[in-house]
Amino acid sequence: MITPSPTQLQPEVWQKELAQAVSDPAELLKILELPPDLLESVRRAARSFPLRVTHHYLSLIRHADPADPLLRQILPLDAENHFVKGFTTDPVGDHAAALGAGILHKYAGRALLITTGACAIHCRYCFRRHYPYGQDNAVRHWDSMLQTLRTRPQINEVILSGGDPLSLSDQRLAQLVLDLEQIQHLKRLRIHTRLPLALPSRITSNLLKTLSDSPLHCSIVLHCNHPNELAEQLRIPLNRLRQGSITLLNQAVLLRGVNDSLDTQVSLSERLFEFGVLPYYLHLLDPVAGAAHFAVPDELPAQIALGLENALPGYLVPKIVREIPGTASKTPLHRWSNPHSGATSCGATD
Ligand SMILES: *Cc1c(COP(=O)(O)O)cnc(C)c1O
Ligand code: SF4
Repeated sequence: MITPSPTQLQPEVWQKELAQAVSDPAELLKILELPPDLLESVRRAARSFPLRVTHHYLSLIRHADPADPLLRQILPLDAENHFVKGFTTDPVGDHAAALGAGILHKYAGRALLITTGACAIHCRYCFRRHYPYGQDNAVRHWDSMLQTLRTRPQINEVILSGGDPLSLSDQRLAQLVLDLEQIQHLKRLRIHTRLPLALPSRITSNLLKTLSDSPLHCSIVLHCNHPNELAEQLRIPLNRLRQGSITLLNQAVLLRGVNDSLDTQVSLSERLFEFGVLPYYLHLLDPVAGAAHFAVPDELPAQIALGLENALPGYLVPKIVREIPGTASKTPLHRWSNPHSGATSCGATD
């Protein structure tokens, strides 16, 4: 739940929609006309990581189809409770990269802030489902986080991540951006978000103004996994962001039963471009406990890479990467499939 800040008495449209997000498994099954005998297993799986989905996102899901690629991303399943070797609660070494509460510094020049644990939808494969957001978010420890950034001139880009940073109010975000602008060595600001896909109304005039007026170069990295997530309602808001000189990129995760075919990946890249967004990364699933049923066969990433290169112009081919703890960047496909070319060890922690 969003608690309005004192200066904001009336919740905005997107905040009302967010407050109406569906978290009751029975309601979900009813809206989507899914078999009622699913109820017990959905309830069980939702106990450790609650169900959460907006009505907008639900409107993009086919009814009575348990295999719908958007449904699979938000539907709690019994498979989440199966223990699978190698799938852990800190798969990407975040705890080791923490500079302080809610701030991760893994890569040269870039610091990632966990701004909030809140999200508009709960994606079942999420690698942050086990992250201790309550104690460890940068907004709660904002002043000490700013101090940490001030004393590290080598950091020139700040990434607002989460949870979802756009679940913060416009007022709160404007204040965060203003504070970051005071730090001389920061040049770029990036927002990693899935929220516009769950709530197109989130792209408000105030948000647009905060980002386009900022002296920091701003980019938004959307997290869209499937072309069906790019609803018509997003066309105009994304266009306004671009007109405000905000760079729009996308990162997706390769997920079994969601986007694990070449056709889907080609359509995703093409539809992103139609909406003014360039594909940036296609991530391999992080081996997070509870998400093993989304893993794809080992040979698939290379097949998809080749297929995309053959089907699309270079600028519509996302870089296929995975996260290997202790390395200096995301590791591109050619490096992990050919280990002798050597992933370098991390140079960013200091
Ligand atoms: C992925 C990630 C980044 C961003 O990496 P880019 O290659 O710049 O997109 C930064 N910090 C952390 C901790 C990350 O996991
Ligand atoms: S952090 Fe992103 S991927 Fe994870 S649950 Fe939230 S919106 Fe989904």
